[in-house]
Amino acid sequence: MYARVAVPRSAPDALIYLVPEALRPFAVPGVRVRVPLRQRHATGMIVAIEPTSDLPPDSVRPIEEVLDDTPLLPHRLMVLAEFIAGYYRCPLGTTLAAMLPARLLRADSEEVRLTPTGAALDPSNLDGDASRILATLHERPRIKVPTLLAAAGLRDRHLLDAMTDPGWLRITRCRRDRAPQIEVAAVVLADGPISELLDRCRRAPRQRQVLEWLAAAGRPALASEVAAATGCSPATLRAMVDRDLLHRFSQRPPQRPRWSLHSGSTRHELTDEQIVAVDAVTSAVVTGGYAPFLLHGVTGSGKTEVYLRCLEAVLAAGRSGIVLVPEIGLTPAASGAVERRFGQAVAVLHSAQSEGERWLEWSRLRDGDARIVVGPRSALFAPLDDVGLIVVDEEHDSAYKQQEAPRYHARDLALVLGRDAGVPVLLCSATPSAEASALVERGLAAKLTLTRRVAGNRLPDVELVDLRQQPPEPGEQGRTLFSGPLKDALAGVLDRGEQAILLIQRRGWAPVLMCRDCGHRIDCPSCSVAMVVHQRSRDLRCHYCGRHQSFPSTCSACGGELLDAVGAGTEKVAHHLRRLFPNVKAVILDRDTVRRRSGLEDALGAFAAGHAQVLVGTQMVAKGHHFPGVTLTGVISADALLNLPDFRSSERTFQLLTQVAGRAGRGDRPGRVIIQTYYPDHPAVRFARDHDVDAFLAEELVFRRAFAYPPAARLALVRFESRTLSAARKAAEAAAAAVGDLPDSIRLRGPAPAPIERIREHWRWQILISARNRDSLRAVLERAEAPKLPRSVRRITDVDPLSTL
Ligand code: ADP
Ligand code: ZN
Repeated sequence: MYARVAVPRSAPDALIYLVPEALRPFAVPGVRVRVPLRQRHATGMIVAIEPTSDLPPDSVRPIEEVLDDTPLLPHRLMVLAEFIAGYYRCPLGTTLAAMLPARLLRADSEEVRLTPTGAALDPSNLDGDASRILATLHERPRIKVPTLLAAAGLRDRHLLDAMTDPGWLRITRCRRDRAPQIEVAAVVLADGPISELLDRCRRAPRQRQVLEWLAAAGRPALASEVAAATGCSPATLRAMVDRDLLHRFSQRPPQRPRWSLHSGSTRHELTDEQIVAVDAVTSAVVTGGYAPFLLHGVTGSGKTEVYLRCLEAVLAAGRSGIVLVPEIGLTPAASGAVERRFGQAVAVLHSAQSEGERWLEWSRLRDGDARIVVGPRSALFAPLDDVGLIVVDEEHDSAYKQQEAPRYHARDLALVLGRDAGVPVLLCSATPSAEASALVERGLAAKLTLTRRVAGNRLPDVELVDLRQQPPEPGEQGRTLFSGPLKDALAGVLDRGEQAILLIQRRGWAPVLMCRDCGHRIDCPSCSVAMVVHQRSRDLRCHYCGRHQSFPSTCSACGGELLDAVGAGTEKVAHHLRRLFPNVKAVILDRDTVRRRSGLEDALGAFAAGHAQVLVGTQMVAKGHHFPGVTLTGVISADALLNLPDFRSSERTFQLLTQVAGRAGRGDRPGRVIIQTYYPDHPAVRFARDHDVDAFLAEELVFRRAFAYPPAARLALVRFESRTLSAARKAAEAAAAAVGDLPDSIRLRGPAPAPIERIREHWRWQILISARNRDSLRAVLERAEAPKLPRSVRRITDVDPLSTL
């Protein structure tokens, strides 16, 4: 008997192994195994069992160990994994690793150390890459392989392996396939009167303190809790256990605190439109079988309540449900609503969780202790039994696309999974994607609509301010940040004690620093983008590679001394706002805010509680928040996305404007939206003003069809990245040449430099292929990927790319 085993990051992807007699009962698809691989060992997953093999028997090595007693992934997810690997062109092992909680199928970690011979070498005697490796190791004697490669600016490890041959380095491996620890240490006082215990540590004040604290608590406590309360070290606790002052045991960690920004789950009486939608989906749930729905409801129409009711029906039928949300950290409202309605039946998966927490939630789902999972895209891979409904909230959100291999789109996969497993799928949005609308147009999904906001409040009035007609702001290179109408509207809101949201798409102070004399722009030395001016940290930062440098005092091109911060980001807008309204309390919400621990909760919490009147932020402020006090939304500039050379820029702009407008007027007072723009006639802006989603999509689909862009065609991007420009270009040219002649129905664009030609010192060249259907696209991709790559070039294939930048 033989097993096909998928191993992450190995080629070829699935390898054949012999299943030894003794392991046969345990070797089934979905369990992990330990296998020999070249000179080392690896952890992989069995994907198929085969009775025979064509390989010569002595070339097949045996499986060493079976690591799980039951499959980690149910059959439907094993099938989905094969689909993902084939469709998104990602090795099966890497795909499976991405579907499992972090550690279970990760390659072993490796650590590099200098040998005494290596330590004696002088880095400056070696050439470029090797000398950087040695120099890094001189600074940090033990370092993980990926960290070392990154520090030395290398893309692959050939050189490292080569340097072990003369005995300069040693690479050691540590196994990492164990499930993370989910038990935590707890302690309890030993038996006997406390006075006696205290007497026994008269000369150890720390230990006495611990005893006193535990006695006062009158209960066992987590070791971490004791440490936090008394400041004692783990060594103190260990010593006390050894001396029989304490007993130690393990227990599951306490329930994580549940998010409670908008607390209380009210089960509203449904509106007529909600009833129609709930009935349609629940009857599909009861009937079973694949049934795709697009729930298009205007902002504030109660879409969440619709899917909560549908999930009630799912649970009542004894089945389980999957709720996908774009990014749980940024959209706590939706996941919070599900948790409040279903309590302990819910498991939340979350990228900010520790590995242990995530594993705990994952185990609860696998063991059937939780029957509803809420989470970002990977929650689709939760090991649930008997799924009765898959909900994709905010289906238009670009966070559903994974930006590393496998580059899957969770909304599309939800439909694939629903079709293969026979499950209804509910896509929800106020601004449906072109893809979802095309499904409805082609009769492949049923449309449900909520045209009115709940509780009778109207959609806000949207006004456009033509910035070409506005007097420029002094010191802003002819631009306007706060137009007359926006200033007046803000003044009114602040007077009445209401709240406002201001959208500005860039974070930091200003996106560009420019010399007034020669017009030179300060670019990142590693990337072909401008350095962003940050006021709070008083430096320039590259938003692509993270490099930062202090403010230059003169222009590096002409020596001029006048450098202008051109354009505006969140910091500058908040600054000008405080100048206009000296008493205003404003909070900023952007990626810099959420990077700090609890930054997001602090900002949203302060705003929800009314401690701040204005929320200034990037597109994060447009994400599904429900702040009833907000009566004004101001868009500082609608144009940032419109100018990007990407076919989705119009759709993105429309979605963002409509979503951010939808944050206004959700309470009992009417809302107002002011959009400032240089392009008041652009369809994305015009249709957003009219709240006319259908008209926008109709026009957009015409454009997509005319130029063979998705959803009218299938698109794939193949990008080549290298430290040397010519290598990247040549590889792209070779790929295009390998594609050869094409019929009219298939279009090849490029080879051409990517719009952002260089990132992290790597030049990027690409080709873009569009075809009418999946099979012809795959055939062309196979040809494009055929040429052998030089070691210095990395190839990235992105099927259905969301961005071509
Ligand atoms: P959407 O996701 O469509 O923007 P939400 O689901 O956030 O809207 O709903 C907006 C608010 O309306 C929420 O506070 C929700 O509790 C409330 N709500 C939902 N359905 C009803 C209803 N039928 N009657 C009254 N309020 C409702
Ligand atoms: Zn950079």
